[in-house]
Amino acid sequence: MSEVAIIGGGVIGCAVAWELARRGARPVVIDRLGDVGHGSTSASCGIVRRFYSTPTMTAMAEEGARIWADWGNHLGLGGPGKEPMLARFERPGMLFIPPAVDERIEGIVEHMRAIGVRVELLGADEIAARFPFLDTSSHWPIRQPDDEDFFEETERRICGAVFEPDAGYVVSPMLATQNLREVGERDGVRFLLGHAVEEVRRHEKGRRFELVFSDGSRRSFDVLLNASGPHSSVFNRKVGCELPIETRALRREVCAVETPTGSDGRPLGVPVVGDLDSGIYLRPEGGGRDLVVGSLDPECDTMEWIDDPDDWQMGVSEKIFERQILRLMKRMPTVEKGRLRGIAGLYDVTPLDWNPVLDRTQVPGYYVAIGTSGSSFKTAPVVGALVAQLIEACEGGRNHDADPVRATLPRTNFEVDLSFFSRLRGAHTSSGTVLG
Ligand SMILES: Cc1cc2nc3c(=O)[nH]c(=O)nc-3n(C[C@H](O)[C@H](O)[C@H](O)COP(=O)(O)OP(=O)(O)OC[C@H]3O[C@@H](n4cnc5c(N)ncnc54)[C@H](O)[C@@H]3O)c2cc1C
Repeated sequence: MSEVAIIGGGVIGCAVAWELARRGARPVVIDRLGDVGHGSTSASCGIVRRFYSTPTMTAMAEEGARIWADWGNHLGLGGPGKEPMLARFERPGMLFIPPAVDERIEGIVEHMRAIGVRVELLGADEIAARFPFLDTSSHWPIRQPDDEDFFEETERRICGAVFEPDAGYVVSPMLATQNLREVGERDGVRFLLGHAVEEVRRHEKGRRFELVFSDGSRRSFDVLLNASGPHSSVFNRKVGCELPIETRALRREVCAVETPTGSDGRPLGVPVVGDLDSGIYLRPEGGGRDLVVGSLDPECDTMEWIDDPDDWQMGVSEKIFERQILRLMKRMPTVEKGRLRGIAGLYDVTPLDWNPVLDRTQVPGYYVAIGTSGSSFKTAPVVGALVAQLIEACEGGRNHDADPVRATLPRTNFEVDLSFFSRLRGAHTSSGTVLG
């Protein structure tokens, strides 16, 4: 295969590049920033869980989890006498609290078990016994803090939770991406960093794409992959390729608070929590000293869609910080608010169903790995392998729209039909949130 230009040195672009190089292609990762992993990947919470609405995403998440658990071997880094700085997969477990433990939830749990995920269904009493610092009251429906019923006392309890003992988070997503750069360089990927693509010219004859950079320099390629994260729709416009499926940038804030201490004076052993009953998710940070808290976008909150991913408020706000911490305090009453801390970042969302778009396009030689919808860090190594196979097959003449590429995930033995990620698809079953 000829040279492939990958626009975006985030975790997705770097994962695809390495997999392409392993297949003998000559990828060039292009990023306008000075190093890889400095875009939206740098804001990622890196949570790795398998609980998703569809068997395909659950299987990809499990495949990803097995890779993160074996990261050094997967990359072929390390070995006797070598101690590379590697991203770590911390596994305190994850508790997922749905509004109801119904047939749909039980179906997902059954599928998780079928592909080998350790998972338990816990009742409210079991949750209280295992995690005594969590209040098991139900706060549904979720409200804004200025709603007069926000602090209403309730006798109702959550109906239970799904617990994944092997779930956790990777520290840090940026380091994981830099690990991918290291093995990419080792195996033939080239990196053109500090290069912003301003314009893309398409040619009928000769090489198909000419990239014009902000310093006026130019490079031509036959194959182009859009892995530009929250800039995905901006870049599609540069190529003159409107997709039938929309991707949009969504602003997020993730706050930080100190983890409350137990009777021994040490920070409590808090698992990752995805709490649809309170509208928040959280995970430990800094060795457990802090908790980071994000939003699960309850209906009462306003979504901050961003039209221009180069023009948005990068600082965190007192208003969102307070809302998130107050919601957390209902679930974990010993938390104290503390000072304003956190980061803001952008998701690249597919509003249709919050699943990625990994596909060819109607422009020959132009591919997309976009719409990662706030939850594709965990699956990035798997996405890398699938997109590399897709590009290889299509450049080899396969009509993926009519005859979709299929690939068996080596660790879970699950066959992924890549039409699942097609730009031409109808909406998949989804929570319509970052949970997928
Ligand atoms: C706050 C937050 C929390 C998250 N938490 C989780 C989580 O817990 N678990 C999980 O699995 N996922 C999570 N995610 C999602 C996950 O991090 C993303 O899906 C993933 O990092 C996206 O990677 P990417 O490579 O597509 O994008 P990016 O990392 O944004 O990379 C795209 C790159 O493209 C470059 N670029 C754009 N335009 C151009 C151009 N014209 N020329 C050159 N370069 C260009 C940018 O500089 C950028 O570096 C979270 C995301 C955010 C924002």
